Amino acid sequence: VSAATSPKPATETAVDTFTVPSEMKGWVYDEYGGVDVLKYSSNVTVPSVNDDQVLVKVVAAALNPVDFKRRLGKFQATDSALPTVPGYDVAGVVVKVGKQVKGLKPGDEVYGDVSEKALDGPKQSGSLAEYTAVEEKLLALKPKNLDFVQAASLPLAIETAYEGLERAGFSQGKSILILNGAGGVGSLTIQLAKQVFGASKVAATASTSKLELLKSLGADLAIDYTKEDFEQLPDKYDVVFDAIGQGEKAVKVVKEGGSVVVLTGAVSPPGFRFVVTSTGSTLTKLNPYLESGKVKAVIDPNSPFPIDRVKEAFSYLETGRATGKVVVYPV
Ligand code: NDP
Repeated sequence: VSAATSPKPATETAVDTFTVPSEMKGWVYDEYGGVDVLKYSSNVTVPSVNDDQVLVKVVAAALNPVDFKRRLGKFQATDSALPTVPGYDVAGVVVKVGKQVKGLKPGDEVYGDVSEKALDGPKQSGSLAEYTAVEEKLLALKPKNLDFVQAASLPLAIETAYEGLERAGFSQGKSILILNGAGGVGSLTIQLAKQVFGASKVAATASTSKLELLKSLGADLAIDYTKEDFEQLPDKYDVVFDAIGQGEKAVKVVKEGGSVVVLTGAVSPPGFRFVVTSTGSTLTKLNPYLESGKVKAVIDPNSPFPIDRVKEAFSYLETGRATGKVVVYPV
């Protein structure tokens, strides 16, 4: 954030320090479909702030596959009503706080995933706009060493990585195979498995040009899925973390008594699927690893995309070839 756009720190009349307009610029769609349903509007209503929420002036946002799957109407049954301002991941500055908010004040730099349940009633007014209203419990203070682009890249993906590893019972000394190690979730799962959980061995899959990245993130073994079939290799793992939708193959390379956690697609026992729950406390817990540099944000080299190029950003993410995270900045 440049000095010119950065709000001044809060004073004793904190709540009134920031002038918030009633309308803002933002991306919105009022029907399900491809990227062309996305419209960039300059008169989106600024969301109101519930007692347990803060209003965040968005500095950077990031895209996730759930954004386009939702836009395509795949979760219609449990989605919030249209029109939708998409976007789960945000990094920005608190400009207003609800009455019950205890731990945040205007001027605080925060990051988080704005929708507690990714598929079940996600926010109608998400992060791809100038302002978004977020429950305090979904946010954490931005790690001091990270810029807003780096911070925005993290929440949904790192919370998925962490929750998946925990649900799989991953712990020190265990081995893990991560299917899709180069995407948003996998690039963080490699790092958490190694740096936070103390893995004995991390293997991960990607195509040829991304193998070096996997190693630089801490993978002991980088498997080129264009040349080798992980199912045919001799190794078995305590945990298989599937971030691509190969659950049926994943269960074949897990050790007896191990677990297979999948993010998408079908799986049979012992494999299981889960949907991430947004929690600011996970981010707070991981902040020391981010601040020490043990865990790093992985930003796709084609990003950030400025806010007026969100359609391009989505088209790129939707190729399924992004490396790390696709970030939108400046907003
Ligand atoms: P990304 O879009 O970031 O993943 C892109 C990466 O996938 C690319 O780097 C690409 O590498 C890699 N890839 C494509 N095909 C393969 C393959 N056959 N084997 C290994 N890697 C491959 O996705 P995310 O990491 O953000 O999300 C992954 C999946 O998990 C999505 O389906 C998403 O919807 C889901 N998800 C589910 C959540 C939940 O709560 N259940 C939460 C978060 C995500 P290359 O170019 O080398 O092929």
